Amino acid sequence: MTNARSTIPDPVNEPVKPYRVGSLERKQLEEAIAHLKAEKTQIPLVINGEHIYTDSKEPVICPHDHKHVLAESSLATKEHAQLAIDAALNARQSWAALPWEARASVFLKAAELLTHKYRSEMNAATMLGQSKTCHQAEIDAACELIDFFRYNVKFAEQIYSEQPKSDAGMWNRTEVRGLEGFVYAIAPFNFTSIAVNLPTAPALMGCSVIWKPSPTSMLGAWIGMKILEEAGLPKGVINFLPGDPQDISSVLLPNENLSSIHFTGSTATFNYLWKEVGTNIDRYRQYPRIVGETGGKDFVFAHNSADVDELSTALIRGAFEYQGQKCSAASRAYIPQSLWAKLKPKLVETCQSITMGDVTSDLSLFMGAVIDRRSFDKIKGYIDRAGADSGAEIIAGGEYDDSKGFFIKPTIIEAKSATYPSMVEEIFGPILTVFVYADDDLDETLKMCDSSTKYALTGAIFAKDRLVIDKMTKSLENAAGNFYINDKPTGAVVGQQPFGGARASGTNDKAGSKLNLLRFVSFRTVKENFQSITDYRYPFMDQ
Ligand code: NAD
Repeated sequence: MTNARSTIPDPVNEPVKPYRVGSLERKQLEEAIAHLKAEKTQIPLVINGEHIYTDSKEPVICPHDHKHVLAESSLATKEHAQLAIDAALNARQSWAALPWEARASVFLKAAELLTHKYRSEMNAATMLGQSKTCHQAEIDAACELIDFFRYNVKFAEQIYSEQPKSDAGMWNRTEVRGLEGFVYAIAPFNFTSIAVNLPTAPALMGCSVIWKPSPTSMLGAWIGMKILEEAGLPKGVINFLPGDPQDISSVLLPNENLSSIHFTGSTATFNYLWKEVGTNIDRYRQYPRIVGETGGKDFVFAHNSADVDELSTALIRGAFEYQGQKCSAASRAYIPQSLWAKLKPKLVETCQSITMGDVTSDLSLFMGAVIDRRSFDKIKGYIDRAGADSGAEIIAGGEYDDSKGFFIKPTIIEAKSATYPSMVEEIFGPILTVFVYADDDLDETLKMCDSSTKYALTGAIFAKDRLVIDKMTKSLENAAGNFYINDKPTGAVVGQQPFGGARASGTNDKAGSKLNLLRFVSFRTVKENFQSITDYRYPFMDQ
C-alpha cells in the first residue's frame, strides 16, 4: 500500500565529464565507438513491448562517413501505426492508475542507467549517428537527458502537491490526470535528449505515447528506448515507430483519440501538423494540445561597449559548435562599425583555425559533418549565392566537400543589408552572417533585429554599459524566448534556463520546466462538503 507522502530527491545537474586524453571516460567512449562501428545495429519498431523487425529497412549512416552504414532501421507501415494506437490506448489505463511515484521511479531508474551503464554507448551513438564531438554528445545525450529525467519528476511532484485552499466546512482538492487517448511525439535529429524527452515528459504525467523518431538520429533514439525498457516502462506506454512520416501521420492525425502532439523540428513541419489537426477537428474526442518547439534565426547583438574577445568567443562557439545545427545557434550578428575593425581579423583568424573531420576517429576536433545530403545542399546553396552576390562577401570559410562526409567549413558572411537572405532565413548549418551598423543607428538596428525575421527563439546582447543593457533588453523583449546578456545564445541547461521561443519558433512551452508538463495533464477539481444544508432559503429572503 502506498500511503506515504513521497518527495523526490532534489535534482542537481549532471556534471559534464571533460574527456581529457588518458581519462577513463575517454577510454570507455573509444571502446563504445569501436564496438558500434563494427556492429551494424538492427533497430526494430516497438509496439506493445514487442520488437518488430520489418522487411523494409532504411540504412542509418554516419554523416562524416556517408558510406558507413551504422545501423538498419525497420520501417512502420500504416498497419503498424494502427497497432501502435491500439497498444497505447490499452496501456494507458493501468499506467495512469499507478501511483505517480511508481511512474517517477521508472524515469529515475532511467537516469541512473544513463549516468553509468549506458553513458558511453549513448554518447558513441550520438557521435557516430549525428556527427557530434565527444563534448557535444556528452552535454546532450548524457547530461541533458539525465537532467530531463531527474528534473521532470521533481516538477511533477510540484504539480501534484499544488492544492487549492478550502473554506470552513469543505475540503477542496485538485486531481491531476494524464490526457485520455494517445500523444504523438515527433522528434528532430539534432538532440538525442530532446528526442527522448518528447515521449517521456507526457508519459511521466500518465499519458501513453506513440514516438516517431527522426530518421537521421535513429541509433541514439533506439538506445533511449532500450534504456526505458530496462528501467521498467510497461509495455505499450511508449511505442517506438520509425517510418515514413506521411504514412504514420495519415493514420495518427485523423484518429479520434489523438490527445496531443509533442513536436520539435522545423516550423514548416509544425505548420503542416497544426493544419491537419484543424482539418480533423470535428473528429476528436478532445481538443488536442499542440506543443511544438520549432525553427530559429538566433542573434548576437553587440554594442560598442562590448568586450571584443568575449564577443568573438561567443560568436565562434555560438555559431559553429555542432556545425550550427542547434536551434539556438547564433546565425546573425549585429556589430557596431567601431568594433568591427578589431573584431573582424580575430573572428576570421579563429574561424580559419577551427578543426573539422571525423569526430569519432579524432576526438580533439571541434566540428564534424552536417547531418545529411539535403542539409548539405541547402547550406551550399546559401554559400554559393553569397559568393556570387554583390550584397554580401564571404570573409571566412566558404568551402565544402561531400566526397567522404557532408563537410561544410565554418563560414562567415558579411552582409551589406540587415535583410540579406542569410540574415533572416533559417539555414541550420555553420554559417554566421554579420551586419555592420553605424554606431549612431543603434535604435534603428535594434528594431531591425526584432522585426526582420519571423522567429523568436534565442538571442544574445553584448555590452558593458548598464543603461544600454537595459535599453537593449527592453527593445528585444519579444525577439527571443531565451535571452542572454554577455553570453552565447546556446547551451540552455534544464532546471536553470527553461527552453523555448515564441512567434514562428513555437508555442514556448519551455521544455525542462513545469510549464511543459502542464500541457499533458487535465485537472479535476473536487469539492467535498461537510455541512448539512437542509433549507433552500437564504437569509436575505427573511421578511
Ligand atoms: P524536420 O521538421 O525536418 O523534422 C522533424 C521531425 O518531423 C522528424 O522526425 C521528421 O521525420 C518529422 N516529420 C516530417 N514531416 C512529417 C509529417 N508529415 N508528419 C509527422 N512527422 C513529420 O526538422 P529537423 O531537420 O529534424 O530538425 C531541425 C529543425 O528543428 C530546425 O528548424 C530547428 O530549428 C528545429 N529545432 C527546434 C528546437 C527548439 O527547441 N525550438 C530544438 C531542436 C530543433
